[in-house]
This record gives sequence, structure tokens and C-alpha cells, in this order.
Amino acid sequence: MNKLIYFDNAATTKLSKPAFDAMLPFLGDGYGNPSSIYSIGRDAKNAIENARSRIADAIGAMPEEIYFVGGGTESDNWAIKSVAEMKKSKGRHIITSAIEHPAVLNTLKYLETEGYELTHLSVDEHGQISLDELRSSIRNDTILITVMAANNEIGTILPISEIGKIARENGVLFHSDAVQAVGQIPINVREMSIDLLSFSGHKLGGAKGVGVLYAKKDLHMPPLLHGGGQERGGRSGTENVAGIVSVAAALDDKLLRLPLRSVEQMRDRLIKELLTIPRTKLTGDPVNRLPGIASFVFEGIEGESILLLLDQCGICASSGSACSSGSLEPSHVLMAIGLPHEIAHGSLRLSLGEDNTNDEIDYVLEKLPGIIEKLRDMSPLWQ
Ligand SMILES: *Cc1c(COP(=O)(O)O)cnc(C)c1O
Repeated sequence: MNKLIYFDNAATTKLSKPAFDAMLPFLGDGYGNPSSIYSIGRDAKNAIENARSRIADAIGAMPEEIYFVGGGTESDNWAIKSVAEMKKSKGRHIITSAIEHPAVLNTLKYLETEGYELTHLSVDEHGQISLDELRSSIRNDTILITVMAANNEIGTILPISEIGKIARENGVLFHSDAVQAVGQIPINVREMSIDLLSFSGHKLGGAKGVGVLYAKKDLHMPPLLHGGGQERGGRSGTENVAGIVSVAAALDDKLLRLPLRSVEQMRDRLIKELLTIPRTKLTGDPVNRLPGIASFVFEGIEGESILLLLDQCGICASSGSACSSGSLEPSHVLMAIGLPHEIAHGSLRLSLGEDNTNDEIDYVLEKLPGIIEKLRDMSPLWQ
């Protein structure tokens, strides 16, 4: 088999066919500036507003609550910094979880240097927060709770409806990083009492470099970028028209096919079979988990070495250890769920999408056990 086998859909996805098709006109003759009054400008403007309504519908929001931004990271940054700014006269305390994406964690770390105080909720071995701990962490000066909808490394789905309810009861704003959740599981901001929600095009079959921020209507978002006043003055700059329409097309297409049963079945086959390898553990919640994420730790080996050998077989996957930053620290998520350092180093995440097939699962199941055995035979950590 020399075809590429892509099991890294939580890192990014291939542009879906509907998204690709929706973008094409705006990469060709539909190049008008959406702020211009002639027809190709108006067409571009209409395409953006059409995308805004469809995306609003898809998450239970109103079009005037949707802002287009430059990605998931930008959406998280804008949401969190805005609330910090808007609410600083009420207080400077923010509650988050120990397993957030760096786009949230590092934004909060920055705010800490500006005098904000953070509480990081602990998580159990499955990556779940305690609602009691959340309740008892809320103070008079708490202005924001930001907890992700689903975790990118271990696939745990967090109880955001319950968190939203607690936030509402206490008069605290609730933001959720839903980059891994939107398009994978149903999300409804109204029903789930979410005040701000962030997601990203390229994690759901849309283009890279485009993201969405939902912010409840009565929030008056301070501008992220000052300029020509696009995005109702919130995010100036000529719009990424092709990118924006790709998100609406990709999301509509995904929602048609929820729940992703076939993806779940492939995930469960991987989990069942790979757990027969000795001293192997599933990471994340065994029940409340994203349909596409199968994540493990294998004792006695390094995640990086597994990735290299998988790559030699044409399989793309990822590991929480020694990751993007090039650091040798294991992931903060695997530490937070209580894994010892040496075990957290042997992590592997296979993230599936609808393009994957059972033949590809067979192929991984044929290759991976041998890879683990070979690496363990060579490993000084293994006895
Ligand atoms: C990918 C990801 C982000 C960042 O999104 P970008 O569009 O790549 O900036 C934020 N949060 C989570 C949970 C993610 O998986």
C-alpha cells in the first residue's frame, strides 16, 4: 500500500468536496471586494451573509452573533481578551480547565501578566472536570468560565450544557473552545447556555485561515482589529470570502450526516484491537468521547518513534509528547489526567474522519502491533 493513510483529522482535515466547490467561484471570477457596490462586490457580500446565516442556524445562533475571523486561535484570543476587557470593573478572576488548547491557555497566561487571576479546574483520569469544583471556584469577582467542548488530544467531550447552566445561574459569562466539537457532535449555543463559542474552518473540512466567533447579541465586543469596519466594526480587513463560504458549505455537509456512526465504529474497532497489546491504555473518556479520536499510551516507548515508523508505512498520526514546540515535556493534557511522565511519553492519537475506510483500519491494525513490539525490544525503558 503506498497511498497516504491519513489518521490526523484532529490536526487538520482535507477540504471537503462541498467546501472546495463552494470556494471555486471566489478564487476565480468572483474576486470582488465585498465592500464594493458593483455586482461582483455585492455577490461576494451576499455570499458572506448567506454563509453567516447558515452557520448561525447550524449552532442555534442569530446571524448578527457570528463574526468571521482568521482561525480558531484568533477566535479564542478575541473571545477571552474581550471579556477580560469588558468585565474588568466587575473583577479579574477567570476559571478554565487544565486541559485547554494552547490558544486558550496561553491567552490566559498573557492575561495573568496583566493582573488577572486564574483557576485551572483539575480533571479526573478521563479528562472530566468536577462540576462541584467549578461551583466552588466561582467568586464575586469571577468574570469568565472558559472550558473546551471537546479535547483535541484525548477526545473527551466535556459537559458544556451543565457548565453553561452553572455559569448562567451565577451571572458569569461562559466561553467554549469548540474547535474539535463543531461538525462532530451537535452544538447549540442557545440550549447549552453558551455566551461565546470559537471554532475553526480547517478542522471540519473547510479552508485554513478562517474561523468563527459566536458572541451573544448583548455583548458589545471591543474591536479586535481597527480599520475599515468590516464584521460590524469588530474585525476590520477585507474578508476571506472563499474561506468563509467554505466553512458554511463544510459545516452544512457535516451536519447532514451526524451522528458519525461509521466513524465511531471504526474508532471502536481500533480501540478494541489496540487495547489487546499488553501495557496499553486508552486515554480520555471511554464513553463521552469524540467519534473520531482513538488515543492511547503504550508503556516503554516514545510516541515520536511510533510516528516515524508509522510514517514509513504511509500512515499519518500524531502524539502528545515532544510535540510541535519541540520540547521534551509530555503534553499538559496527559499530565493533567494523571499519567506518569514516562508513560505519557508513549502517546499516540489516531484521529479519523469520514474519508477513512475499514481497509485502512485493517492496515493500521496489521502494522501497529509489530511497530510497538519492535520499539519495545529496542527500548531501554522496557523490561
Ligand atoms: C486546532 C485547534 C485550535 C486552533 O485552531 P486554528 O484554526 O488552527 O488556529 C484551537 N482549539 C482546539 C481545541 C484545536 O483543536
